[in-house]
Amino acid sequence: METTFRIFKQVPRLIFGAGSLRRIGELVPPKNEGDYYVYVIDDVLKNGVVEDSLSIDENDLVEWFPATRKEPSTIQVDELRDKVIKEKAGKMPLCIIGIGGGSTMDVGKALSVMLCNEGSSRVYQGWDLVANPGIFKIGVPSIAGSGAEASRTAVLMGADRKFGINSDHSMFNAIIMDSSLIKTVKKDQWFYSGMDCFIHCVESLEGTMINELARGYADKALELCKRVFMGNGDDDMLMTASYMGGVSIVNSEVGVCHALSYGLSIELEYRHGYANCIAFNVLDEYYGKHVASFREMLKRHDIQLSTNVCSNLDDSAMNRMIDMTLRMERPLTNALGENWKAILTRDKIRELYLKM
Ligand code: NAD
Ligand code: ZN
Repeated sequence: METTFRIFKQVPRLIFGAGSLRRIGELVPPKNEGDYYVYVIDDVLKNGVVEDSLSIDENDLVEWFPATRKEPSTIQVDELRDKVIKEKAGKMPLCIIGIGGGSTMDVGKALSVMLCNEGSSRVYQGWDLVANPGIFKIGVPSIAGSGAEASRTAVLMGADRKFGINSDHSMFNAIIMDSSLIKTVKKDQWFYSGMDCFIHCVESLEGTMINELARGYADKALELCKRVFMGNGDDDMLMTASYMGGVSIVNSEVGVCHALSYGLSIELEYRHGYANCIAFNVLDEYYGKHVASFREMLKRHDIQLSTNVCSNLDDSAMNRMIDMTLRMERPLTNALGENWKAILTRDKIRELYLKM
């Protein structure tokens, strides 16, 4: 049988293991006179093990990204690009290093792309719209789950939509998976970001775009997630799950939960992991047995989710959320097949939001 599967994508180089951030010198391109790197680092990591592990030169730029405040936006990325160009009088960095969660790593990726492509980052939200390769970039997750270290997208908030810059040029050239960095993550956030990985695996496995190779990654990642959240798995397992779940998604797609979750993030400003948890909890009819496992994990970790989260939204807010969901054509095709519009109607989407 002829296969229509795309070319399988993976980050070409990675270093794995607790303490491995100290080996970053083996991955960065060597500098000549006048060269500099840009570090984009989650500001919760200030004055910690991250700074101790890096040897930042005075010529380098360090941008502390306030990931705790909000998910990154196209405006922030455009401003950061302009700031780098201004400060260095147009000289490009040799390398960009993004250290943090999905939010901060995505800023690093988007900056890399936007230093080499004209206009606003808004223009590149979508699939394969980036013409020029970006600056060489390295990703370092400091919280596990998003799989952004493995993915070919940089997800950004726009005026009325949350959307990724999906492109081969959005992939890191190298990553470092150092589980010592995730030790400081607070329990609730650990759970929500970890569930993002669990949901990536479920959506990948239950979707129509899966093949045996991507299934291998998702199956293993799901098993590791369950060991971490239902057994006594360790941080290296969670880092591995996050990465493998990400690889699986790059080579398949997300599904109904992500399509609904983006609506919650734009209207209620819910963070990705949390929004996913709220949405997944009402998706029994699509992901039945996995939703049951999810509820077990909620219980085990004593996590309380808000209820009736959409009850105070007016019609126009609800319509914006439904519009956002309907824009997620690829995930919905993956989840429900080519005929998804007949299955996931506006009324059905509204009904699901009102259940959350
Ligand atoms: P995040 O980057 O949004 O961070 C969540 C919180 O954890 C923030 O407050 C952050 O400061 C904190 N944090 C990070 N590292 C920490 C540490 N070591 N100790 C203490 N606190 C720490 O979280 P995330 O779940 O990794 O990423 C979600 C974001 O990634 C969303 O913006 C989402 O849209 C995006 N995302 C991208 C992809 C992709 O493939 N590019 C995939 C999934 C999600
Ligand atoms: Zn996700």
